[in-house]
Amino acid sequence: MPDLATLADYFSIMSDRPDKFTPEQVGYSPRPKFKEVCDDCIHYFRGKVAKRNTCEIMRPTSDTESDATQGWCWYWNADYKTFPLLDKPECPIEKET
Ligand code: SF4
Repeated sequence: MPDLATLADYFSIMSDRPDKFTPEQVGYSPRPKFKEVCDDCIHYFRGKVAKRNTCEIMRPTSDTESDATQGWCWYWNADYKTFPLLDKPECPIEKET
């Protein structure tokens, strides 16, 4: 029989959630600006039971509208390595090499 997770294990994991970026750090907006939107981003996950959508790299603040499928941020990508919005002239994020 496998080692099953205890309820204590569960609460331990839930109390140690990974850090995420703030909406400000990634330039998040709940309103679309480009054709790239959260709904098509590899970081966006849909929760059917909780009826919540979530981004795996950005944790919204309590007053951030984060369920917006048409939201976006500068780190939008579909393959973990190509970031088309970072190349926009108006993008304020510096790309370090
Ligand atoms: S566009 Fe930005 S905020 Fe939206 S899902 Fe992708 S990484 Fe998250």
